[in-house]
Amino acid sequence: MQYSPITADDISHLRQICGDDWVMWGEDISPDYYHDELSLEGRPPEAVARPGSATEVAEIMAYCWERNIPVTPRGAGTGLCGGAVALYGGVVLVTDRMNRILEIDEENLMAVVEPGVLLMDFQKAVEGVGLFYPPDPGEKTATIGGNVSTNAGGMRAVKYGVTRDWVLGLEAVLPNGQIINCGGKVVKNSSGYSLTDLLIGSEGTLAVITKITVKLLPLPRRQVSLLVPFTGLEEAVAAVPKILSSGEVPAALEFFQREIIQAAEKYLGRTFPHSTAPAYLLLTFLGNDLGELERAYEVVAEVCLAQGAMDVLIANTADRQGGVVGVPRRLFGGH
Ligand SMILES: Cc1cc2nc3c(=O)[nH]c(=O)nc-3n(C[C@H](O)[C@H](O)[C@H](O)COP(=O)(O)OP(=O)(O)OC[C@H]3O[C@@H](n4cnc5c(N)ncnc54)[C@H](O)[C@@H]3O)c2cc1C
Repeated sequence: MQYSPITADDISHLRQICGDDWVMWGEDISPDYYHDELSLEGRPPEAVARPGSATEVAEIMAYCWERNIPVTPRGAGTGLCGGAVALYGGVVLVTDRMNRILEIDEENLMAVVEPGVLLMDFQKAVEGVGLFYPPDPGEKTATIGGNVSTNAGGMRAVKYGVTRDWVLGLEAVLPNGQIINCGGKVVKNSSGYSLTDLLIGSEGTLAVITKITVKLLPLPRRQVSLLVPFTGLEEAVAAVPKILSSGEVPAALEFFQREIIQAAEKYLGRTFPHSTAPAYLLLTFLGNDLGELERAYEVVAEVCLAQGAMDVLIANTADRQGGVVGVPRRLFGGH
């Protein structure tokens, strides 16, 4: 497809929309915008626009639509598949100025945010009022808009699902500049096509997401993590379905191999509690009652030992209201 190159007139129009400070052109563009976290060589966009509102996004989209200028939405650029890279030039539309948490509805356990809010800021804000946003992708400097657009997963997906499972509604700007709303602050929303689900995970190919409504949970007060070394890779992997069917599903479950721990130890200059086993599972349990948590992880520890675990270590225990309270210690001896 042939797109129109950006001209000086286009730049002055984009500056009228966003303000002079929020549009970069040509050599003024930082190479940071050439790539995401994977595609390090990247492609330079012709312009970078940083709108401050959905109305400004809509004006940019309508203008570029009429002139056949490609627009690539971008959050924090932490993506790993090049979706935020301007393959065909044109405008990279960055959401970093749209970074307000518009509402935390403590009564109805919901929140409304702009797309440029960083995951770490959002998690901190909701936890500050005793609430919990379960999706937990590894990169906390990603934006919520990026998380929605990639349907980001993360370690807690095993119990809570992925970002899609927590989005109730979206406001988005279509390529022609039309602003649409889909879903909203209701749990039961069962009629018609789910445009919300269509937009989630669409990587900026269908619309620019400008507002997001998500569900929340009460914040679990306690956290316990188990580090489980296994005699082999197959034993570790085979233990996972047994754990999930034990009735005590951990909130997070991560698998890694010895080489990863050794590389991390070398890089960080720190010693891991255990680093000689071929394979490991790291399990995290969340809850409010320590007794219930202990019962849960003891059941899972027994399952792991029966599946070839060499040991079960409590990697850390944290009281989410009282800070870290433990250091690694042995829970059960295996073989
Ligand atoms: C160390 C590390 C750990 C990671 N861990 C995980 C993980 O556990 N799980 C996981 O799923 N991913 C993970 N990722 C990948 C990445 O962090 C996620 O994909 C994240 O959701 C991207 O958010 P972002 O704001 O950086 O988006 P960007 O990288 O800027 O954009 C990603 C995509 O979303 C589109 N987009 C961004 N904002 C909007 C918007 N407002 N409207 C429409 N489209 C938009 C872009 O066009 C692009 O296609 C990790 C990345 C790193 C570097």
